[in-house]
Amino acid sequence: MTRRQFALGGGGLLAGGLVATARGASAEPAPASAGAPAPGLIEDLVAANRILADQGVLDGYGHVSARHDQDPGRYLLSRSLAPELVTAGDIMEYDLDSRPLDPRGRAAYLERYIHGEVYRARPDVKAIVHHHAPSVIPFGASTVPLRPLYHMAAFLGGGVPVFDIRAAAGGPTDMLVSSAALGQALARGLGEHSAVLMRGHGAVVVGASVPQAVARSVYMEIDARVAAQAIALGGEVRYLDAEEARRAQAAVEATLGRPWELWKRKAMARCAGPTPSS
Ligand code: MN
Repeated sequence: MTRRQFALGGGGLLAGGLVATARGASAEPAPASAGAPAPGLIEDLVAANRILADQGVLDGYGHVSARHDQDPGRYLLSRSLAPELVTAGDIMEYDLDSRPLDPRGRAAYLERYIHGEVYRARPDVKAIVHHHAPSVIPFGASTVPLRPLYHMAAFLGGGVPVFDIRAAAGGPTDMLVSSAALGQALARGLGEHSAVLMRGHGAVVVGASVPQAVARSVYMEIDARVAAQAIALGGEVRYLDAEEARRAQAAVEATLGRPWELWKRKAMARCAGPTPSS
């Protein structure tokens, strides 16, 4: 199916509602904490917030989460806060219904359902970024697909679907994925891809680790910028083909520790807030 077919096909809230009802019955016991995650996971998640702000992927909005390393039915996400300001004490634990387990008066992001429903649908996903990077917005609104123009964005070689919230909701919304049903519709739009564009809004990027989701977000943002430049030149734009993308993705993703260490050091040094204590 093409990205356009998906955007038009929607799927609607009916299917999402049925899923919500089915799992609502099994989720009655009060959620219990999965316990403390590995200190390194919290540190990486704090760093991810700051890196994505430092790299221009997130501004005052957007968020990044990690699946809990002790329980796949839990995830970790900051309280509602600008990503650049996030510290270890702001990280909250949620269940996959996106209920905070120990809110202590802390506000939750309205769009946390993106995280809970994608983790539920995709057991392989260990980290999720939701961003509004300006460079990707045209590709969510246009019939021109976002494709890998260069090797660092090879993970986009499988295609980037577009989630149209109007089709999913069956009418106009405030554009926010602010319910479980909309989160489920978004997860269906993502399918088995590594990223999904959200028309008139932004994108969601997933990874098998926090560094991978962060790097994919950074290089997706750059790819959208340079692809728009290539398109503006006129003439035929030559993207990576499927085999090039497959090979380049394997080569690039085997070395992501290198930019991760650089970004982490720079972002933690630049940010005014306290560094994580653990
Ligand atoms: Mn958003």
